[in-house]
Amino acid sequence: MQSDGNRLVNNLYVNTKISEKRTKMTRLATTIESQTLGEKEEEPPGETVDLGNLEEEPPGKTVTNRYRFFGHISDSNWNDWKWHFRNRITTVERLNEIIPLSTKEQAQLRLVTMRYPLSVTPYYLSLINPDDPDDPIRQQAVPSVLEITMSSMGLEDPLREKEDSVVPGLVHRYPDRALMVLTDICPMLCRHCTRKREWRHGGWVRTNNEIEAMLEYLRRNDSIRDVIISGGDPLTFSTSHLESIISRVRRIRHIEIIRIGTRFPVVLPQRIDNELCTMLSKYSPIWLNTHFNHPHEITPEAEEACDRLLRSGVPVNNQSVLLRGVNDTVETMLRLCQGLLRIKVRPYYLFQCDEVQGTEHLRTPVEVGIKIIEGMRGHTSGLAVPTFVVDLSQGGGKIPLQPNYVLAQTKEELLLKNYEGHVFRYRNPREQTHSKLTAVASLLNEPELHFKSEGAKDADRVGVRS
Ligand code: SF4
Repeated sequence: MQSDGNRLVNNLYVNTKISEKRTKMTRLATTIESQTLGEKEEEPPGETVDLGNLEEEPPGKTVTNRYRFFGHISDSNWNDWKWHFRNRITTVERLNEIIPLSTKEQAQLRLVTMRYPLSVTPYYLSLINPDDPDDPIRQQAVPSVLEITMSSMGLEDPLREKEDSVVPGLVHRYPDRALMVLTDICPMLCRHCTRKREWRHGGWVRTNNEIEAMLEYLRRNDSIRDVIISGGDPLTFSTSHLESIISRVRRIRHIEIIRIGTRFPVVLPQRIDNELCTMLSKYSPIWLNTHFNHPHEITPEAEEACDRLLRSGVPVNNQSVLLRGVNDTVETMLRLCQGLLRIKVRPYYLFQCDEVQGTEHLRTPVEVGIKIIEGMRGHTSGLAVPTFVVDLSQGGGKIPLQPNYVLAQTKEELLLKNYEGHVFRYRNPREQTHSKLTAVASLLNEPELHFKSEGAKDADRVGVRS
């Protein structure tokens, strides 16, 4: 005879199996419905992977629920970024129609959104697996009650951007760089956003007078050679308005490069259209920094957007934020960064999540980031390993943090640990030795003297010998 405990376990097991079967049947029904409606033909490039195959997910394929959530939306609307922007999901009621929420969750989310609003594009929402409450896309897009229950932790403006603003919207912290914050509007409100404090002001854009004041400051400060245009998200502007700003920045002779900070390639890649890319290509060199956090964000649409930018002469770098439950494992970061290289996006920074009010539940100890870099270095190409960075509170700037590979050091040699944990001695060349060798080489009338490092086995290292 079964004990009550065993019966409970068995019932749970049977119920889980029934629920799994129901989910599979719903998926099957959705697929059949899509096929009978002829929508299969209209699917965007790339393949849709069944939700059950996550473990075997090959690079370049991703889960999408477009036809499950938005099957009635025409291709022309789906491919139109303005349609997505107009139809952002901004209320708990609308979210509940797409991703069923319990009554308790709805009540909690209503409370959270009074302080920290909700905004998700239909495209990004379609990447969520609604059957997984811990889905990494969901963690970034759907509010959590922890945003308010833990909100006493952290600071409103940890990077002290307000203090470094030289004119409204222009941050000048580093000598040769300046940041233009043009709007607080974003297509999606990321739950881990550093500028969450701006959300309650409910959507502002800098006026023409304010932009002119920023440009005037840039004109007068010829130490600035690098301007970052950011927000919010500056690509929320129309292409013509954006061009009117970029063209004026480009006319300033000492500004060498313009960088654009945007999450559009990730949350609404349809924005990266031909009109935008043609415009950007006129003001080279422009670099674009984007913000992929999880391999599920590398969809065919995102890949196409990045490819279009690259073909227009705009290099794309990625700045991830390390987030608890989203990308805080070596395995996830490897998949993300290798996927980025595959779509020709360079993994640039991995940021420690800033100490911002309303984000504490997503923050990880700093050691997690260091361990991730340690787990990646040597196990994949150096190109795939981002720099792990803490952006200091009190406006102290960015500090790169590395695993410790130097076990001991004297003037003559270093004791180094490699990625496998093996320890090596490394002779430290001295300045004196160099000058003596150069003198001997010139006596022997040698055009050049080559130095050879013993045991350099790094496959990434390119040796150039004359
Ligand atoms: S796109 Fe950037 S600025 Fe906008 S909400 Fe996300 S993290 Fe914040």
